[in-house]
This record gives sequence, structure tokens and C-alpha cells, in this order.
Amino acid sequence: MTLNVEETTWEPSDVVGVPKVQPWKYVVVYGRVVTFGLLQIAAVYGLYLAVTCAYWKTLIFNNIIQLMAAIGISAGNHRLWSHRAYKAKWPLQIILMIFTSMTYQFSIINWVRDHRLHHKYTDTDADPYNASRGLFFSHIGWLLVRKHPDVKKYGKNIDMIDIYGNPVLRFQKKSAELGNSTLNVSTWFIDLSAIIGLAYDLRTAPPNVIKSRKERTGDGTDLWGYNKTQ
Ligand SMILES: [Zn+2]
Repeated sequence: MTLNVEETTWEPSDVVGVPKVQPWKYVVVYGRVVTFGLLQIAAVYGLYLAVTCAYWKTLIFNNIIQLMAAIGISAGNHRLWSHRAYKAKWPLQIILMIFTSMTYQFSIINWVRDHRLHHKYTDTDADPYNASRGLFFSHIGWLLVRKHPDVKKYGKNIDMIDIYGNPVLRFQKKSAELGNSTLNVSTWFIDLSAIIGLAYDLRTAPPNVIKSRKERTGDGTDLWGYNKTQ
């Protein structure tokens, strides 16, 4: 079986009229700079420990975790959900969702929208990781600044019906936004049971309650600029 993961259903004509690179003043999100900076430092320190004093069991454990994370992004976020390269039953989707949640790449729903935008408007300002802005921007820089207005504007053209209709992905996004994925294990368990049909008639918090909670205890940012479009 051949899966050409980069193959898309988008027409080349879709990109007509989208400017490649316009002058744009970056708005740095300093919280992200600090977070990603600390991650890089931690990675270097981890490498130092790995070659000096780590137990071999730790190294094996680390490799297994890395493999799970890579499978989550590649087989889950990319091939399954972004490109629909194959279909997966709920248990596999849940496993992939857990794997991908280890990677600190935010919600799958946002990932998929960014990726579909990337393929539809490649190398333009509507591409969230526009390579026309250079190697650094397309790999890490795009995560450190607010999104280009074209990303929000053309993001509305992306068909996300399959994604929004997926309870596994809605569950993961809700958990990511409320930051309760690690704190509230019971919610995880009940929601997952509901997805595979073992629990039902769940009483959930209405959207306005979630919204007020986000405003009260969230960091108040709408980095992805998607709140208005959902
Ligand atoms: Zn792709």
C-alpha cells in the first residue's frame, strides 16, 4: 500500500490571489519564547545526562516515548486527521490522540487546520509556516509570533467538518484548552468511556461556563485567532 502523505485534494487555482509575502510586523509572544527556550535548554541538558550518567533503562524509556510521540504526529495528526490517508476505529484514534498529546503541539484541531492551510496556500502568508519567510520562521519562528492576518482570513476557507464532528478531537481540544488533561483524570476516563460507547448521557458544562472559566483562569490569549471563527 502506498500512501502519498503530501498529496492533497486542493486545486492549484486555490492559491491564486493570495500574496506570497507582504511586509508584516511580527508580534512576538514572549510566553512562547520563554517556554520554547526552556524546552531547548532542557533538551541540551537531557542530552548531557544521557551521555554521562543516565541509566540504560531511562534511555530505552525515552526512546519509546519519542517513538510514541512521533507516531502520534505522523500517523495521527498528519496522515489520519489532516490528509485522511486512511480510516481508524475509535480505539486507534484514542491511542494516537494520547500519543500526540505528549508532543506539546497544541490541539489536534488547530494542528489540522494549520496543516490544511499549509497545503492549500503553500509558501504564502496564508500558510501558517510560510517557508518564504525563511528556515527559522517555517520551523520554529511561526510559533513565537502571532499569526498572520491571512492565516485567520483564509482559515475560514478550510473544510473542517470531519474534524469538528470527531468526538476524540473535540475531547482533546477541550482538555487542552482547559488545561485539565493532567489534573482531572476522572474527566478523561469518563469522556473516553463515552467515546467508545461504555458511558452515555454525560452532563457536560455549557459553552458559556467554559468560556467564563477560560476568561477567569486562562492566559487570555487567542494566539491562534480562531475563537471568532468557531
Ligand atoms: Zn501534509
